Amino acid sequence: MKAINLRTEYLVNPVGIDLQHPRLMWVCEEGVKQTAYQIVTEKCDSGKVSGSSMHIDAYWGSRRRWEALPEKASQMDHFTDWDKVVPIDHGYDESKPESELTLADLQGAAKFRGGECLSETMEKGDWQGKQTFRCAFGHPFEASPSLVLEGGHWCPECERRSWNYGARAKVDPFFAQVWNPLHDPDETREYAKEVSELDV
Ligand SMILES: [Zn+2]
Repeated sequence: MKAINLRTEYLVNPVGIDLQHPRLMWVCEEGVKQTAYQIVTEKCDSGKVSGSSMHIDAYWGSRRRWEALPEKASQMDHFTDWDKVVPIDHGYDESKPESELTLADLQGAAKFRGGECLSETMEKGDWQGKQTFRCAFGHPFEASPSLVLEGGHWCPECERRSWNYGARAKVDPFFAQVWNPLHDPDETREYAKEVSELDV
């Protein structure tokens, strides 16, 4: 099994992400179900996460297969098929220089996330100023274009309460790109969040 489409906060080659708990994402090649994970960085190796049931909750598949994984990252097969990485459409023209970003770009990106940009003005090229949005489920929120387009964040209310990604994929084409290839169209189970990254 190979993990493809690797992302950190939706970025392929993240540098300097200023988040305490960045989200790492990947897609299993040919729809294979993942049984475990091991995260390796240049300077540290997470080690095979073991022990507590809290950790095991993060795995999809059997514990037996997870336990069969080698202990060290150096013994694992590493991903090499970079030509199979599927780029994600971020809902705006990424070939434009950042200084050319307009309100229309932001409105299009918001629509592609199933919501809308409620702001009526935006200074051209301003990636840091806060703008107002509404998600597909009706929650208003503020965020900078940088946070949404580069950081991959969206509605904090939806993120805080639960994981209901099946429902989200039905109304959010941006998210559907990473959810639909690996999940049944009828999978709409909702997972309550016991701990939110906003509370730690
Ligand atoms: Zn929401």
